[in-house]
Amino acid sequence: MVKIINDELNKLFEIKTDDCYTVESVHYRKTLCVSSQVGCSIKCSFCASGLNGLIRNLSADEIIKQYTLAKEEGLEIESIAFAGIGEPLLNWDNVKKAFEYFKSNGLSVSFYTTGFPIHNFKELLSLNHDGVNLSLHSVF
Ligand code: SF4
Repeated sequence: MVKIINDELNKLFEIKTDDCYTVESVHYRKTLCVSSQVGCSIKCSFCASGLNGLIRNLSADEIIKQYTLAKEEGLEIESIAFAGIGEPLLNWDNVKKAFEYFKSNGLSVSFYTTGFPIHNFKELLSLNHDGVNLSLHSVF
């Protein structure tokens, strides 16, 4: 089930998974911001997504579905930002599969990450990405 909330600049998708959790993706300009996890274990102090910790990782299909749903709404999408709910490096295998799918469809793909775990961060830097934004607000 998908609930779509519009404001002047953005379109927010609330997507219910088959096991009844909710994740969000946001379309702004020609970018779709996608979630990589249900909940988040990082628990940044300013962010509601981590309040209940991590519930589970999203599968690669569930990440890609956020894109296909937005396309079905007729939205123009040129780039994907892994900037929604979750730390992409903590669901790395599924995020990499979705990344390959997005790149093979001609999209630019950027990441927003705390850089943890560091070995996945190093691998991320070696990918053919279109930008990595490192947040250093949580020092652990
Ligand atoms: S890593 Fe992202 S989703 Fe997780 S708590 Fe921090 S800001 Fe929120």
